[in-house]
Amino acid sequence: MKKDDLKSLVSQMHKELLNNIDSQKEVNKEMLISYLTDAIKSIKKIHDDEIDSIEHAKLAFTNAYKEIAQKSISSYKHTNGKFEELSKLHKMTLDEAKDHLIDIPNITEKFDEIQSYMLEEVEKANAIISQLTHQIKELEDDSNLDALTKVFNRRALERYLKKIMQKGSLKHELYLLILDIDDFKSVNDMYGHIVGDKVLIFIANLLRSTLRDGDKIFRYGGEEFVIILNRITKEKCQEITQRILQTISTSKLIYKDNSVNVTTSIGVTKYIEGDTPDSLIDRADKALYHSKERGKNQLNMEFTNGH
Ligand code: GH3
Ligand code: MG
Ligand code: MG
Repeated sequence: MKKDDLKSLVSQMHKELLNNIDSQKEVNKEMLISYLTDAIKSIKKIHDDEIDSIEHAKLAFTNAYKEIAQKSISSYKHTNGKFEELSKLHKMTLDEAKDHLIDIPNITEKFDEIQSYMLEEVEKANAIISQLTHQIKELEDDSNLDALTKVFNRRALERYLKKIMQKGSLKHELYLLILDIDDFKSVNDMYGHIVGDKVLIFIANLLRSTLRDGDKIFRYGGEEFVIILNRITKEKCQEITQRILQTISTSKLIYKDNSVNVTTSIGVTKYIEGDTPDSLIDRADKALYHSKERGKNQLNMEFTNGH
């Protein structure tokens, strides 16, 4: 399936889902949950070979799904609040009625009936809420994308390296870069965690726009990214890495009243025959360590397993 086919499939499903919901005068909980379950099933059935397009489509859908789920959850919460108000009102009415000649047992019975119906509804709503929450988590756990930056996550990197190395020796050159934001802790300390998160998104977007379509970007850890460049020469790799360093160090994130500029350090290595995913990453890590040690905002390369 092509990327565009998937995109249109997901947006079509999303549209249908919303139309179905909109066409109901009052959203019926059972109906909503069954729409969502069906939609999830269809998405899960999609084959997972082409991680680029499938994962982005999945994420687009997860977000749409999440939005609807969150809206329904908050509407249920609102209903729960209303129930609480109502039962208080009942109690007050009963207390006031005591002073008058009113058939209290009869009223109490009616109120109890309403009350137990309401409790049942609340329980049903709670069951749906936990089902929705569970399904959202399942979708997220299944994803190869990092929820914050929308680049691939570490699990996707592990899957990818395992897959290409399983086939035996690689027929083409593969370069792996580990990029670590310099002094990121002080960005958080100075501007706050939310701005820190925006910087991570900003860096991911800068990487996306600097790199080609076939290059792969992964969020490896908190403020660390891994980039994989296929079918290039050492010189080209160096040129691209320099360009990344320069683009990042000369860009500024403007967010509210803040203007934030960061630099990064990069460690570069190349696949050597016999490498495992771990040995490849270790070597890039060693190169990254040199970049930090030698003053940050720079790249270092490590091409041998020696000391
Ligand atoms: P160095 O130049 O040596 O890399 O210094 P550093 O401060 O970047 O490195 P350190 O490992 O000391 O700190 C990393 C910081 O990254 C600490 C942690 O709070 C922050 N961080 C990790 N993940 C996230 C995240 O998802 N969001 C935000 N805002 N901060 C994060
Ligand atoms: Mg780090
Ligand atoms: Mg860092």
